[in-house]
Amino acid sequence: MNRLAALSLALTAPLLASPAFAQRDFSEVEIRTEEIAPGVAVLFGAGGNIAVGHGEDATVLIDDQFAPLSDKISIAIAALGATPVKYVVNTHWHGDHTGGNENFGKTGATIFAHDNVRVRMSTEQVRGDRVTPPSPKEALPIVTYGQGLRFHLNGDTINLMFLGGGHTDGDSVVFWDEKNIVHMGDLYFKIPGYPFIDVSSGGNVYAAMQSLDLVIAMIDDETKVIPGHGPMSNKAELVAYRAMIGEAVRRVEALHAQGLTLDQAVAAQPLEGIDRGEGGFIGPDAFVTAIWNSIDD
Ligand SMILES: [Zn+2]
Repeated sequence: MNRLAALSLALTAPLLASPAFAQRDFSEVEIRTEEIAPGVAVLFGAGGNIAVGHGEDATVLIDDQFAPLSDKISIAIAALGATPVKYVVNTHWHGDHTGGNENFGKTGATIFAHDNVRVRMSTEQVRGDRVTPPSPKEALPIVTYGQGLRFHLNGDTINLMFLGGGHTDGDSVVFWDEKNIVHMGDLYFKIPGYPFIDVSSGGNVYAAMQSLDLVIAMIDDETKVIPGHGPMSNKAELVAYRAMIGEAVRRVEALHAQGLTLDQAVAAQPLEGIDRGEGGFIGPDAFVTAIWNSIDD
């Protein structure tokens, strides 16, 4: 092993050994702001994309990334000319979308989410060897809903809609009716790698496809589509993403119908040729497994 390889191993080994995110250093993270319509901006930093709605009435955040970024996020919001955050909406419970809840909750924001987001954040969550403890009270959504609700704010109607979930059992998509914008949460990743279906959080690929179909039916070619992760998108790209999932599901269903075991199905590499780019945190084996578990669900 040369020195460089030894050094990089020394640097990465402690990270790999630490619980996810606990040791993560956010000091280098910069928040980049993209204004996508009058009164609506997207903040890109680390974790899920944040939408900021602001104007004459109040400032609403859709998702809030990680707690150590809250100050930088607040500075970015102020730079838009927006007032401090009054409402926070969580698209789902994952920590890269809700990590700022406690900070924004303590400074007076009211947090909204689907019923199951509060249920999962209130209790210990286990996915494989990853254990997430319950969140403090201040971080929990205090207004929850089953199907959705509407904000009438800043001259627009902001619709929070639960369409059946799929990434988890508590995914909301958020529509600005007048401005023709949708925040997809993690039902849509525009990054390398395969979709993340968190079956341990009640996710299911069939529910995800249904949710995507419902969104696609409600939007048009002018709709600005905010993915949970990755750069801004549009309907055509969302349609292609939905088609890719459908193709993957058909291939895995075929192996399932043949009576293979999950191990055999993974070994058969059914997603070969479905190019999702280099890297990403969900590889083909994880996606095949999630589809398989969705079939058996
Ligand atoms: Zn997520």
